[in-house]
Amino acid sequence: MDVLKQKILSEGKVLSDTVLKVDSFLNHQIDPVLMQEIGKEFAQRFKGFDITKILTLESSGIAPAVMTGLTLGVPVVFARKRKSLTLTDHLYSAEVYSFTKKESNEISISQDFISSEDTVLIMDDFLANGQAVFGMIDILNQAKARIAGIGIVIEKGFQEGGKKIRQQGYHVETLANIAKLSDGNVTFKKEETC
Ligand code: 5GP
Repeated sequence: MDVLKQKILSEGKVLSDTVLKVDSFLNHQIDPVLMQEIGKEFAQRFKGFDITKILTLESSGIAPAVMTGLTLGVPVVFARKRKSLTLTDHLYSAEVYSFTKKESNEISISQDFISSEDTVLIMDDFLANGQAVFGMIDILNQAKARIAGIGIVIEKGFQEGGKKIRQQGYHVETLANIAKLSDGNVTFKKEETC
């Protein structure tokens, strides 16, 4: 998606060979116009998949997921990372090791919002080693929901997550796939070149 890749090139900050910071439009400040375009793009790519719900992870998955839900006309559920006073039992939970925080979190959703009747699109802001996505797959398996596919805003294709998830047969769509981060530069995968 060219507009996203241009935004990454102009505003992204390469913190190391493995971490990209996109705080000016996705992870801290949010660019609503770009999020709307992202939502339309995912809705187009997953048209005809009979999606009934979107599942994402707080907090950075919420903006692109809500915009996609708006276009597809389906609700968005976000898994919570912290224990909440109002979310205590009747949960589906999974353990997720955070790539950026280097710690394990239990992620949870209420059993009220996803059931075996649902066909779910999993979404997240980044895909690195796949832990977050595998945690959401685990939760959907507990709910016996159908998984329509996985929509990722930025995939770091040099890390293992995308390969592992595709090997398991899931349909993965990414809007910007990064081949390399080095010397402050972002290189996109060949087929993704703008
Ligand atoms: P994974 O679970 O696939 O290893 O990592 C994905 C999760 O870690 C995403 O939810 C995202 O929040 C975070 N993440 C992974 N890599 C990056 C990165 O390079 N930049 C930012 N901002 N977040 C990342």
